[in-house]
Amino acid sequence: MSGMKYCQGSKCHQYHTKDRLKGMKGSKTYQTRRRSSFYYGGDNFCSLNCQNDWFNKYGDLAIDHFGRTTEAKHLTEQNAWYKEYNWVDYQNDTREYIYVNGITKEQRPLTEEQFRDNTYTLNTGE
Ligand SMILES: [Zn+2]
Repeated sequence: MSGMKYCQGSKCHQYHTKDRLKGMKGSKTYQTRRRSSFYYGGDNFCSLNCQNDWFNKYGDLAIDHFGRTTEAKHLTEQNAWYKEYNWVDYQNDTREYIYVNGITKEQRPLTEEQFRDNTYTLNTGE
């Protein structure tokens, strides 16, 4: 089947569940789960166990590779904007969209399009 992929859990095949037991009679093996999508770890793991197994084995390497946090990050006026909405008319699904600054509490109006656009931001830092 196309679009199928394997769970990335390093021990997925070691969990003895019926759905993992595959193959011909007499030569059955427990196998890594294969699905079209997964619920965990950004669509990569079949279970939290598998996600944790992977992280326990590779987490340190991954963090070192992508950059370890070595000092506190700060939420400032420049990066504290978050999107919110207020109900104007609940029954007619009418909302007022706003940008709120978590530090200054300043509010600015937002269009619905800007609210839904994940790339639209007033924040200028991480
Ligand atoms: Zn798995």
